[in-house]
Amino acid sequence: MRKLVIGVVVVALVAVVAIFTMQRQVGGWLFERAVQQRIGAQPVAYGDALSVGLCGTGSPLPNPDRAGPCNVVIAGDHVFVVDMGEGGARNLNLMGIDPARVEAVFLTHFHSDHIDGMGPLALMHWTGANAALPLTVIGPEGVQQVVDGFNSAYRQDHGYRVAHHGEVIVPPTGGGYRAVSFPIPAAPQVVFEQDGLKVTAFPVDHNPVLPAVGYRFDYKGRSVVISGDTSRSASLEAASNGADIIVHEALQPKMVAEMTGALEAAGNANTAQITRDILDYHTSPEDAAKSAQATGAKLLVLSHLVPPIPGSFFHPAFLGDAAENFEGEIVVGEDGMVFTLPAGGDTIDRDERL
Ligand SMILES: [Zn+2]
Ligand SMILES: [Zn+2]
Repeated sequence: MRKLVIGVVVVALVAVVAIFTMQRQVGGWLFERAVQQRIGAQPVAYGDALSVGLCGTGSPLPNPDRAGPCNVVIAGDHVFVVDMGEGGARNLNLMGIDPARVEAVFLTHFHSDHIDGMGPLALMHWTGANAALPLTVIGPEGVQQVVDGFNSAYRQDHGYRVAHHGEVIVPPTGGGYRAVSFPIPAAPQVVFEQDGLKVTAFPVDHNPVLPAVGYRFDYKGRSVVISGDTSRSASLEAASNGADIIVHEALQPKMVAEMTGALEAAGNANTAQITRDILDYHTSPEDAAKSAQATGAKLLVLSHLVPPIPGSFFHPAFLGDAAENFEGEIVVGEDGMVFTLPAGGDTIDRDERL
């Protein structure tokens, strides 16, 4: 027995020494395998279903594990995103959802954290899809100004890419964005319909940010609502009746109050005031739960988390009394989660892509 143990230890040591003396070769081989697996992988598909994935669950507060606000909706073969915060396009890629497949971006409002990942998405879409047309951005009035700004900022880059890769690889008519705006809705209105998918925009309360909307996606009897940024919203509750899943923003006031106190104690009155200001136009987990209960949703997914929480150990502290206000399940969103609603069924399937 003793000889066997010694033998195993010696073999393990030799293996470790071999790996490190051949680190260059082993690394090259592992990289080659990973590239083949990754680049040759089949596109992510969930069949005839409506899926919602979290390509960013963060907020403007920095968190290395969370990209800015970003949701991906897959209806059958069609891929859409709702908001594109910083790091969202990178996350899509890492989730195995090729940004080139995105057919349109829906914007809930024009706060910087919801649009600041749009530059990388446009580039990945254009170069990856060999796209001859700019990517469509659908949003309430004001979206044209956002699109004009991005197109202007990236115009020189556009020229460099065409000059370097050629017009066949990156068609000069593609790249950047084109805006499709709808009037600021006073009530729910259908803003997009295609192949059984219906997208309805509804107003939410994010004053003084105007316009601010949420979106409801309906596909073959299944439905997902994305709140955008809002305080507890009666119009969201009315527009979300009977939805399967509500992806709702959430801010935990007790945790934010801790931050306010610490900022004041540190003499940072400026940022302390900002942490007080944000309380009135976001929703606590408890209120998000009450909204979900009012709609009859099966699943409440919290996203756009404020403050940034570092891991699942902190979920109960973040949730507070939310569970007492909702009979369904509450999930604290993490980047990479995907929830799938098979067409015509009543199940909710789950996938983790990061
Ligand atoms: Zn936001
Ligand atoms: Zn906002």
